[in-house]
Amino acid sequence: MLAVDVSSDVLLIDCGADAAQRLCAHDLDPTRLSALIITHEHADHVGGFPLLMERLWLAGRQEPLDVYGIEPAIAQVRRVHDAFDVSAWPDYPGVRFHPVSLEEGASVLSTGALRVSASPGLHSVPCIGLRIEDLGGGGVLAYSSDTAYEPAIVRLARHADVLVHEATDTPPYHSRVEDAARVANEARAKALVLVHLPPGFDDAAGERRARGAFGPVTIGRDGVSLVF
Ligand SMILES: [Zn+2]
Repeated sequence: MLAVDVSSDVLLIDCGADAAQRLCAHDLDPTRLSALIITHEHADHVGGFPLLMERLWLAGRQEPLDVYGIEPAIAQVRRVHDAFDVSAWPDYPGVRFHPVSLEEGASVLSTGALRVSASPGLHSVPCIGLRIEDLGGGGVLAYSSDTAYEPAIVRLARHADVLVHEATDTPPYHSRVEDAARVANEARAKALVLVHLPPGFDDAAGERRARGAFGPVTIGRDGVSLVF
């Protein structure tokens, strides 16, 4: 899960666990959430959605939550959400779904000064990486989501201020550290953050492995915060 805090907007990307608790733990008010983007249907990216909605309801949110994603991801969000009967919850905020095309450079949303676009990665199920641009003079953030090395993700991340790339180290549908560093290098990204790390990941060894193609890197442990 990633939270992007840009002045009036807090954008949540994926919802695999207790997102509201994690936001609070990092001094971000969950009621400020303006949208959620789901990159793909896997449980570690979707499974926390019903809990997020329950927490927003308990916090008094009345505005529906805008949820963006490709069709299979939205279908999964609907399934996990519909596992709970919210009909008896008074003033439940509900959800507005916004489908995203599975094609390179697809538009996801434009809100305030934010523009978000997407391109498909190479994963075991349809999945999108994201490019988030702050048109108000801020930076460009690119996020690979789950993918093996993929040229469309290189293009998506072109000249990004920060590339957040997965390094699950389990080919063929995930990237190794070296793949993530290669993408950062080819995209001419200014900084690389490695996320989706496997259990037992050795930070120092990971930094050494990335340095062959790109450096320095940030090891994106849970709770890491970047300002740019
Ligand atoms: Zn996945």
